[in-house]
Amino acid sequence: MRVLNIHGVNDVRLDPVAPPVPGSKDVVVKIKACGICGSDLSYIKVGGIHRKPDGVTPIGHEAAGEVIMVGKAVSGVAVGQRVIINPMMTPSYIGSGGPEGAFTEELLVRDARLGDSLLPIPEGLPYEIAALTEPLAVAMHGVNRSQARPGDKVVVFGCGPIGLGMVLWLVDRGITDVVALDLSPERLERARALGARAVINPAQEDVRTRLLELHGSARIFSREAVGTDAYIDAAGAPNLLSDVVRMAKFQSRMVVTAAYMKPVPLDLGAMLTTEMTITTAVGYPTEMPDVIAALPRLRDKAAPLISHRFPFGQVIEALGVAGTPASAKVMIDFEEGVAV
Ligand SMILES: [Zn+2]
Repeated sequence: MRVLNIHGVNDVRLDPVAPPVPGSKDVVVKIKACGICGSDLSYIKVGGIHRKPDGVTPIGHEAAGEVIMVGKAVSGVAVGQRVIINPMMTPSYIGSGGPEGAFTEELLVRDARLGDSLLPIPEGLPYEIAALTEPLAVAMHGVNRSQARPGDKVVVFGCGPIGLGMVLWLVDRGITDVVALDLSPERLERARALGARAVINPAQEDVRTRLLELHGSARIFSREAVGTDAYIDAAGAPNLLSDVVRMAKFQSRMVVTAAYMKPVPLDLGAMLTTEMTITTAVGYPTEMPDVIAALPRLRDKAAPLISHRFPFGQVIEALGVAGTPASAKVMIDFEEGVAV
């Protein structure tokens, strides 16, 4: 069998590896589908994480599959069970610097616990839809941190898989006034299909002017602010924070979920009169079970998040596609005979 390893900066290879042998507390999952994440691409760009010199970083953390081996001390898990893996709940932090990555045929899940690191896939839900649970959980956590509720006017910056997932959850919660921003027309089209009320391409339109039209205006002393209640940043553009602070209304909220590689300026003088809240959201401390429970109901809305499918043997090519703005979720299918 094979595993996808980062060997250095922009050096990623499909290496041969021996099948895992589970200990008494471990489970082996035959991977059926695993999505490519933006963080996989970032890890490749920086040459891996926690990688020892001459060592490798195995990647892949958005996985669904079938249990094929169960250690003696593991309870509640059976061979043949269909599961997704919650990598945040695995001791080796699968696909993010530990010894295991899910771009492999057979994945070792150490200290496996049902309902925690392994979650059952609801009956009839395809593996590739189940494999969307992880990115959709990131998106749900961002929405949870924004405290958006029906009646709120919300802006989502960035319509990659996470931003699109945020649009999906906001609309699902009855928030009808969602405006999505991106530079890619394809991504904006996807946001619209998920129920965004309007989309803005900042390369073609003035964001403040458009938001004043869409969300109305509000006053802070003598200054005109836009009427948006909550902003969620899934884009990570360097100017974004200062742009929002300058247009934000009184007691509006902003959640940053994008990974910033460099410090960005924050105009606390302009922020003072807004009393706005700026916070961050990372991972999915509690959301994964909620997402997998909702997916049978939202299956048809979630399916279009997958823009491309590749067989495992073409994972390196698939990584290239995942880096293009026209793509959404690029899914690696491990089943025989799956069309490219
Ligand atoms: Zn991910």
